[in-house]
Amino acid sequence: MVSEYNAAPQTLCKKKLMETTLSIIKPDAVQKGYIEDICSKIEDYGLKIRSKRQIQLTQEQAEGFYAEHKGKPFFEALIKYMTSGPVQVLIIQGEDAISRYRFLMGNTNPKEANPGTLRHDFAQSIDANAVHGSDSIESAAREVAYFFPQGLSSE
Ligand code: ATP
Ligand code: MG
Repeated sequence: MVSEYNAAPQTLCKKKLMETTLSIIKPDAVQKGYIEDICSKIEDYGLKIRSKRQIQLTQEQAEGFYAEHKGKPFFEALIKYMTSGPVQVLIIQGEDAISRYRFLMGNTNPKEANPGTLRHDFAQSIDANAVHGSDSIESAAREVAYFFPQGLSSE
């Protein structure tokens, strides 16, 4: 006899693609007091904040984090800005979290970001654009390990 589970495996056994991504609430947004508002929007969007901590990036940490951009015209300004004040580092989890969080962030340039996105609502300029989010599975793994080398607690 064919059970109902065998009859509809894709519905009943569908696996959700759970992902972990890293966000940084950047110095301008921290300084303006937007941490709570940004975290609420992330959770209202159905993503879970697993861990959150405030740090002051050193020059070395910021350069290592944005190493892919070394040599670009905006690199020095980016590092100066990222070390200009405390940032809030977030570990975010959820179904399809990497691309969904990038969508929620909006365009790198806030002037081109759609209404309702974090950069539209909380950022002013391409230099000070409120939030970072990992852009691929590989960068998410690297960036989570960069700030959480011991891994995430199981809580
Ligand atoms: P992030 O990596 O911070 O999430 P992103 O992935 O949207 O941003 P990237 O291309 O990785 O954009 O650029 C990293 C950061 O460098 C941007 O967030 C922005 O602050 C800065 N940046 C990128 N392009 C420019 C530019 N043309 N002029 C000035 N700053 C820029
Ligand atoms: Mg990027």
